[in-house]
Amino acid sequence: MLLDLPPMTAARFAAIEDGVAALLRTRNDVIVTQGEALLPLEAAIKGAAHPGSTALNVVTGPYGQTFGGWLRDAGAKVVDLAVPYDTAVGAERVAAALNEHPEIDFVSLVHAEAATGNTNPIAEIAEVVRQHGALLMLDAVASVAAEPLLTDAWGVDLCVIGGQKAMGGPAGVSAVSVSERAWRRIAANPAAPRRSYLSLLDWKERWTDAGRTQLPHAPAQLEMLALEECLAAIDAETLDAVIARHRAAAAATRAGALALPTLAPYVLRAEDAAPVATTLRTPEGVDAAELAAELRRHAPHLPVQPGGGPLAATMLRLNHYGPAATAETVIATLELLAQATATPAAPAVAAATEAWENAI
Ligand SMILES: *Cc1c(COP(=O)(O)O)cnc(C)c1O
Repeated sequence: MLLDLPPMTAARFAAIEDGVAALLRTRNDVIVTQGEALLPLEAAIKGAAHPGSTALNVVTGPYGQTFGGWLRDAGAKVVDLAVPYDTAVGAERVAAALNEHPEIDFVSLVHAEAATGNTNPIAEIAEVVRQHGALLMLDAVASVAAEPLLTDAWGVDLCVIGGQKAMGGPAGVSAVSVSERAWRRIAANPAAPRRSYLSLLDWKERWTDAGRTQLPHAPAQLEMLALEECLAAIDAETLDAVIARHRAAAAATRAGALALPTLAPYVLRAEDAAPVATTLRTPEGVDAAELAAELRRHAPHLPVQPGGGPLAATMLRLNHYGPAATAETVIATLELLAQATATPAAPAVAAATEAWENAI
């Protein structure tokens, strides 16, 4: 049945792009990219960065490290602003870096980090970047539909999203919104990808500016239909309700974890905690990867995983995005954790239930 669908029309593809633009609160062009979100992230950086440009790369998790590599590949000078993964970056740190390096003309930044469980105050940071005049690229893959994302009001020039987190959709489709000045910058960059899957300019010329009447390539039909479904589901529930559900899941998970004596939230301050995943620090002598494997043996359906790379030893990650952002899933996960750490579950369940109700 899934393989026997009529071809997706250009009009339907364009309507899905418009749905994404509405979700991002932007009037800028939106390019839907038919691949995982790393595709538009790399496309945005390789399009905007070039030899002679200077980028401020804010690193609050592993994605920032990836961006730094791409920026250097593109020949840009890179100023890294790294903050410990258990906090957020403050606007004053960004302002200080911009003052110290007035030549910075591009800023890359992650909104919420599912990998480390933190989230950054974009409204304030974007204001500082706007005053400086640099282009701002935001990785909003883990924040879209989980917390307010005001692309135009904040002045985000390149805003990248993916379907697989709070949108509750597939990982095989993503999107980027591109401001007028970002287009000018990319068009003026002789090193920007052309005739390439990474080329945003190709899509602009062959699709967006050509009136969106003819798709340049066969669309990834199933992913596009899934994205269309996600947008419809968010509309039906309302974006505010979806965001509230993620906020409640984060608050409940954190409150429950605080009631488990051996596990501590990894992110120190509640206001810096991401709405899509709560990370926990495992106690001395407890390997997070082993604990996660044990939890998954008992409950393969619960969204528990260890931190990535070197964090796998000490960080446990409880995901609560998309269909997992419910009180039932949060409580089942906490009960399982209590059992695995030989502590009573009742205080954690009570704390989580109260936090959920206060947040909704
Ligand atoms: C999840 C996520 C992505 C997408 O990357 P995956 O490796 O496919 O999970 C990109 N950026 C951020 C900040 C994310 O949280």
